[in-house]
Amino acid sequence: VIASGKGGVGKSTITNNLAISMSKSNLKVGILDADIYGPSQHKMLGISHLKPSKNKDGKINTIVKSGIKCMSIGLLIDDDKPIIWRGPMVQTALTQLLKDVDWGELDVLLVDMPPGTGDAQLTISQKVNISGAIIVSTPQEIALIDAKKGLNMFKKVEVPIIGIIENMSFYLCPHCNSGGAQLVANELKVPFLGKIPLDIDIRIKSDEGKPISTLSDIKISKYFEEITQKTINFLDKN
Ligand code: ADP
Repeated sequence: VIASGKGGVGKSTITNNLAISMSKSNLKVGILDADIYGPSQHKMLGISHLKPSKNKDGKINTIVKSGIKCMSIGLLIDDDKPIIWRGPMVQTALTQLLKDVDWGELDVLLVDMPPGTGDAQLTISQKVNISGAIIVSTPQEIALIDAKKGLNMFKKVEVPIIGIIENMSFYLCPHCNSGGAQLVANELKVPFLGKIPLDIDIRIKSDEGKPISTLSDIKISKYFEEITQKTINFLDKN
């Protein structure tokens, strides 16, 4: 699972770039967008115009993009309608996305979690045997405080921590205003997976529905490759 204490820190961006980076390492990867109230993977992957079909057993087929199988509540309901569900409905929706979708054979299912530490996080933690959690934060103190809360929640429900990623970490000067997530990782004795710079191309491509990692020869890819390798090593060992 890819989680964060706060929204807007780049959790979804990191999820789909990690997915593409993992699939380049020949892994069969799926993305489950569990951000029920604010799904975005269907837009970031450029598949929001597609409607999932059902297979002969009545299960929902994923939409495949760049070799990644994706399912998001955003593909199943109208984008303009606000989701005003209460806790039990969120639980039902998440269970359906997990169990009523034909995920086929996968090596890794990346779950893009909603921000925070609420019902949805607990539902996923209880319904699936999570191999590990990656926490995404920006370097700002406020985001780091919430990232710590998220981390501690996963520890409490005994989900192994893969590590922390610091996103939008540096701009031009790699030594300025960054490193807070590394300190949190040290303090909580969990691995630090890496930093991703603040980069205009990441945002532009994301908005265009083409995650930056789908492009070859991009300077940014190396940051995701490093994090991918550490994640795969973790999953292999556990
Ligand atoms: P979250 O899933 O945590 O809410 P998103 O992945 O939706 O966050 O990212 C929020 C916004 O920030 C998006 O417009 C995205 O394109 C942009 N963004 C994410 N990471 C970066 C980055 N490293 N550099 C520049 N823009 C980024």
